[in-house]
Amino acid sequence: MRIAIHTPLTGFQNDIADVVRLFYGEGAAVMDDVAHDAKLVHTHIEENGQWRETFAFEVGADSSNQTLEAPAITGGGLEEKRQLKRLIKRTCYQLLKRYTGRAPAWGALTGIRPTRLYYQQLEQGKAREEARDALRTLYDLSEEKIDLLDEILDAQSGFIHRPENACDLYVGIPFCTTRCAYCSFSSGEIGNGRLVEPYLQALFREMDLCSELAERSGLQIDVAYIGGGTPSSLNTEQLDRLLSHMERRFGPFLEFTVEAGRPDTLDEEKLSMLHAHPVTRISINPQTMNDETLRAIGRAHTAQQTVDVYRLARRLGFQDINMDVIAALPGEDLSMFARTLEEIRDLAPDSLTVHTLAIKRSTRLHEQGYHPSAKAVAEMVALGRETAHALGMQAYYLYRQKYMAENLENVGYARPECFCRYNIDNMEETTSVLALGAGGISKCVMRREEKILRAPNIANIEQYIQRVEEMVERKREVFAVKASSLGRR
Ligand code: SF4
Repeated sequence: MRIAIHTPLTGFQNDIADVVRLFYGEGAAVMDDVAHDAKLVHTHIEENGQWRETFAFEVGADSSNQTLEAPAITGGGLEEKRQLKRLIKRTCYQLLKRYTGRAPAWGALTGIRPTRLYYQQLEQGKAREEARDALRTLYDLSEEKIDLLDEILDAQSGFIHRPENACDLYVGIPFCTTRCAYCSFSSGEIGNGRLVEPYLQALFREMDLCSELAERSGLQIDVAYIGGGTPSSLNTEQLDRLLSHMERRFGPFLEFTVEAGRPDTLDEEKLSMLHAHPVTRISINPQTMNDETLRAIGRAHTAQQTVDVYRLARRLGFQDINMDVIAALPGEDLSMFARTLEEIRDLAPDSLTVHTLAIKRSTRLHEQGYHPSAKAVAEMVALGRETAHALGMQAYYLYRQKYMAENLENVGYARPECFCRYNIDNMEETTSVLALGAGGISKCVMRREEKILRAPNIANIEQYIQRVEEMVERKREVFAVKASSLGRR
């Protein structure tokens, strides 16, 4: 179904389109002048201090309406826009819910960080039960998702109030051995590796300059994370130099994660080298334990390689290993996903991240027109949760992305002693991040001022290499603001 949106207000078209997609999927919301099967007509009236929003859904000769009213907030500004947006989305949501008979698990929520809304309710002084009620009433959230948020808030208590000058370090390695069919990152295939050395040199330069910046700004760095891409697509000697340089410039770290990622990039030599460094946590990501699917999605390893590398890492002494799986991969039904989870259960990692496949526009899967069944995706996600609980894990962070199958979520589960602080900081945006490498986005969190300043690094690898000094300058500008708020300058 292609639905054309009419609204008299500028700046709300995308919000209405987000609600349409909750019910009709990606690509359903179109502009009025594009061929369409139905029309969604919004009317906005403001009188006697009230806002009145009406949506009419016109399909052929049929029309269905919904009107909601709320006290108008005037004076312009962000709060007025936020309240009006909420009312418009709720009205549209209620109409489409009634019309389709469907109740999305996340209700009217379309944002990527649902935990933030829960925290906002608590910050208003509400008790947990009152906050739960508000989430039900305002967003029509299902009990199942409210329980999930509750579990995450419990896990995060004690983690989110870090000192004002705490800052995490992220280093990105934008290379992979092959490209996955669902990949939307700017990472490149490593190919003959000609860009690796110049990239590392640029990265070392960025580290040198940023360690001075961190010191001058009074930042306290004790959490480090190497992500990608696939960091372990570097050879042992390159990765060894990278870790040594990071430790020299920013160490020691209390928590140090290396996303090893693909099993085919790991061997005894590389894992032993990682273990000789103070790496506290690694990821070995199967995504699925079905070889046929692995081949279909373009990953050059087998399920057996995952098992062998995992056992090797355990034998070498790694005590905190994460595994990622993806629900709704092409060709997989519930029984295949269940088989993957059974094998994960036997391996018993320390944390498990259950992703829901996101079919972004830039991916091969999108080109192939792949759409998983709604019911199966929800069942897979629920089974992932059950497996994590059976392994003694608790949900500790969550995020949603656009284009996720059934608008579901990615959830990080871990045994309580293995919650990854970086993942919590990154998702909740309560701690600053110095992000180095192509595509990294540094965040300067100004808690007192309730704002976040961002300094993005360019994603193109060759451009990054050439313009690394400019990337540092961007960070200097935003962290200078923080330094002065901390009284360092
Ligand atoms: S491993 Fe990650 S970054 Fe690399 S191709 Fe696959 S999805 Fe993309």
